[in-house]
Amino acid sequence: MDLSPGLSYFFGQLQRALLSPGSQISIASLGCALAIALVFLAVRRHRKGRRIRLRPLLRALFPAKILRSESNRPDLFYFFFNVFIFGIVFGWALLSYEVLSHAVTDALTAMFGPRQPGALPIFVARSIITVMLFLAYELGYWLNHYLSHRIPLLWEFHKVHHTATVLTPLTNFRVHPVYMCIFLNILAVFTGLANGVGDYFLGATTHQYGLSETNVILVFFIYLYVHLQHSQVWIAFTGWLGRVFMSPAHHQIHHSRNPAHFNKNLGSCLALWDWMFGTLYVPAAEREPLDFGVEPDREGAHTIWGELVAPLGRAVELVKGRLLPRSAPAAVLPTTDRNEAY
Ligand SMILES: [Zn+2]
Ligand SMILES: [Zn+2]
Repeated sequence: MDLSPGLSYFFGQLQRALLSPGSQISIASLGCALAIALVFLAVRRHRKGRRIRLRPLLRALFPAKILRSESNRPDLFYFFFNVFIFGIVFGWALLSYEVLSHAVTDALTAMFGPRQPGALPIFVARSIITVMLFLAYELGYWLNHYLSHRIPLLWEFHKVHHTATVLTPLTNFRVHPVYMCIFLNILAVFTGLANGVGDYFLGATTHQYGLSETNVILVFFIYLYVHLQHSQVWIAFTGWLGRVFMSPAHHQIHHSRNPAHFNKNLGSCLALWDWMFGTLYVPAAEREPLDFGVEPDREGAHTIWGELVAPLGRAVELVKGRLLPRSAPAAVLPTTDRNEAY
């Protein structure tokens, strides 16, 4: 049996994930996050009048409790799943951003007439479309995340991300394929819409500035703090900065088990949409006591079966519960009991 096509696919995907400058998990961006975290912790120690030594800093960044946690297993599994398998298995289920973009431009042309030649210099037009696509990405991310927290059926799939009891940059990949499918389709709609509108009003097909096809503003945030959102390093933006940008502490609050933090901070790089739609919780400058992970004691909370297959079963049960008429015994339950049961 010739394994070479499989192997070259495997190494191609791995190379893209780790070496492409625009990748979500490039070695360069991880190195950048590590450097930022080290400098941040060193400055904090210095301010407290403590000596700066590398070993305590590394211990603070990589505590044994995190390294040995069984929560890392599904993170690693989902990293491999999303990098190597998702595209093959679910690629067909994704809407095309380009098709949607053309449809929007065609619709605008039908309504308002042919687009006029662009009057702006090309670098201005490309900068505008880059900002538009970044804001559309952020809005699509926020909406998908909001729906995933508010609709019980979608929560079953998003809950996988929230069962993590420790946060590492790999936790970013701990997302169920059904969640990914919905997320990528919503993103395609928002970015396709933004691109179509941009192309029509800018007067030409304009390409965003990107690094290996990823929006350059998004790449900037990946290097700056996106990895640290899934970490124990408390870097908190407060004041107006905390209303605009989603600091690492913002997202750690999002994973908190404290009910005061539930359904807060749903954005990706920006806090702007959370601020606008009333789901923002600006973290305190000093670390708040946090525990991570919903249902940490549920059986199979960190197994592949519990994280990949069980959500499908629970979703089916949920749909059946909604579609089928309630059984007779449930109908005779006292009202108070029923309310408690739900
Ligand atoms: Zn969430
Ligand atoms: Zn997260």
